[in-house]
Amino acid sequence: MEAAQIPGELTRVHFTEAQIQDRIREIAAEIDSDYAGTVPLLVGVLNGAVMVMADLSRAMKLHCEHDWMAVSSYGAGTQSSGVVRILKDLSSDIEGRHVIVVEDIIDTGLTLQYLLQNLSTRLPASLELMTMFRKPEAFKCNVVPKYIGYDLPDEFVVGYGLDYAGQYRNLRDCATLSPTVYS
Ligand code: 5GP
Ligand code: MG
Ligand code: MG
Repeated sequence: MEAAQIPGELTRVHFTEAQIQDRIREIAAEIDSDYAGTVPLLVGVLNGAVMVMADLSRAMKLHCEHDWMAVSSYGAGTQSSGVVRILKDLSSDIEGRHVIVVEDIIDTGLTLQYLLQNLSTRLPASLELMTMFRKPEAFKCNVVPKYIGYDLPDEFVVGYGLDYAGQYRNLRDCATLSPTVYS
């Protein structure tokens, strides 16, 4: 969808559907090679990672399994507090499994820092992170994704799973939402 098709709502398309799918295919090929001979468990972080999970896993040739977690940050502000509550835990036991956490975007990384720490106590054989997008703040945290789709500037973006007030997740591109929508 072109930004021009929703006049005023989206100020800039950062990555089109085609660019996103190209990058997903590259990462899927890397995972196929890195995890050859194993059945990795992809752990999607709800709700944002739904699109990435669906596209990434279908671009992979390896067998894999899917599981999901839902988390929420405590605190009233718009910034992550780093104090995280698990709303939905994994359905599977990850001990001895090769786990790849799949995320939509890393901003402060505080949510993932908690999540990865929590998952590591369950003794997976390996634990890595794939994120579709990364914002500049993420460089300040100690969460290092093994697979990164694209870097973004420090703007509030929507689409490809990312929402504003529950909407825009089904936008196929990743675009900056005009501040006029939320101010
Ligand atoms: P963090 O703990 O890394 O600061 O927060 C990550 C979560 O905040 C993401 O999983 C996502 O849900 C949300 N988030 C961070 N930046 C953006 C953004 O630019 N747009 C949208 N829609 N959500 C974002
Ligand atoms: Mg997320
Ligand atoms: Mg959100």
